Amino acid sequence: MSVLAVDGGRPVRAVGLNYGRQSIDEHDIAAVADVLRSDWLTTGPKVAEFEEKVCGLTGARYAVAVNSGTAALHAMMHTCGISDGDEVIVPAMTFAATANAVRYCGGTPVFADVDPNTLLLDPNSVNERLSPRTKAFIAVDYAGQPAPYDTLENIASSNGLTVLADACHSLGATLAGRLVGTLAKMTAFSFHPVKPITTGEGGMVCTDELAYATAARRFRNHGIDFDQRERDSKGLWSYEMVDLGYNYRLTDIQSVLGSRQLEKLPLWIKRRNQLADFYVNAFKELPEIESLFRVPNSSHGFHLFVVKLDLERLSVNRDQVLRALRAEGIGANVHYLPVHLHRYYRDRGHGPGLCPNAERAYEQIITLPLFPTMSDEDAQDVVDSVYKVIGAYRR
Ligand SMILES: *Cc1c(COP(=O)(O)O)cnc(C)c1O
Repeated sequence: MSVLAVDGGRPVRAVGLNYGRQSIDEHDIAAVADVLRSDWLTTGPKVAEFEEKVCGLTGARYAVAVNSGTAALHAMMHTCGISDGDEVIVPAMTFAATANAVRYCGGTPVFADVDPNTLLLDPNSVNERLSPRTKAFIAVDYAGQPAPYDTLENIASSNGLTVLADACHSLGATLAGRLVGTLAKMTAFSFHPVKPITTGEGGMVCTDELAYATAARRFRNHGIDFDQRERDSKGLWSYEMVDLGYNYRLTDIQSVLGSRQLEKLPLWIKRRNQLADFYVNAFKELPEIESLFRVPNSSHGFHLFVVKLDLERLSVNRDQVLRALRAEGIGANVHYLPVHLHRYYRDRGHGPGLCPNAERAYEQIITLPLFPTMSDEDAQDVVDSVYKVIGAYRR
């Protein structure tokens, strides 16, 4: 057996492979350059065009562009009226921003556990966390797979609560034929470079309700009731700030990139699924590696390809497997440390034992490289490296 690179052996890859990466082509670059030569760098026509395109792709009636996924989550919390003392249920297995958005509005994130097979929010745990102060849930489409929105909606409607979606992983995915963007009262998307499409930084709030869309539009623009282009077109000079908002505006430079990227999304999702199928197949013969469960009747965006290690069969822990994979040139990663275990939330009374499924999964999970422009050879390098590392650490 060959010596692991982490022990001084020859790495599988000379050039490292990151776990995710943007795909930008010359058409994208030319479209951005055109905007730079135009009159509108921000709050111009490209923003509205991008919003319309996102509505077209998701089937949502309204889309409001903002400058990050975090801003989209914040706008969602604000527009559904979260304030001091309100509780919002969030899954423990997510990026910290999901919970932080609740804090921005003075609310308390209440961490619910996840299904150990999918790492999606577990409706049973949500039921256990309900209190008279609960106002909403934010479901997260972990790795690109839609959360169980039907069950969550049943719990919400019988308790007068709002279901919101953190779909930062799942643009273009579907559940029972329904598109992500229409599965919750409001949906947040992110366009960070590793996400399904990118605008550098960027985000979007989608909703079918005009009142939410109007409030989110105001919120991204200082709480002012008109944007500049609206004012110009109406010949108005005055404006009024009617709410406390922020500058969360997305630029036209970013929006045009987003529109170009959207055109390629269907092909990219197809490629991501192809690569994921290749991995699942390749790891079938490897009992130390378990792929996450795929929900039937749903299509997966495969933002992330996550496997769980069967630690009983290995002589080392997850961190050592990760180190060894990285030494082979495979940019493996971990998504995520459960949010309630971050220092900030531990300092606020949370800690181990709160969400046992998420905590156990955290010890086992590894994210392997997956992005649309990866070649078949890249994917084979990942598989070879996993076999090499697992082979060396098999009990
Ligand atoms: C990326 C991400 C965010 C934050 O999006 P940004 O655009 O980076 O602000 C929020 N939630 C989840 C689940 C994410 O993956």
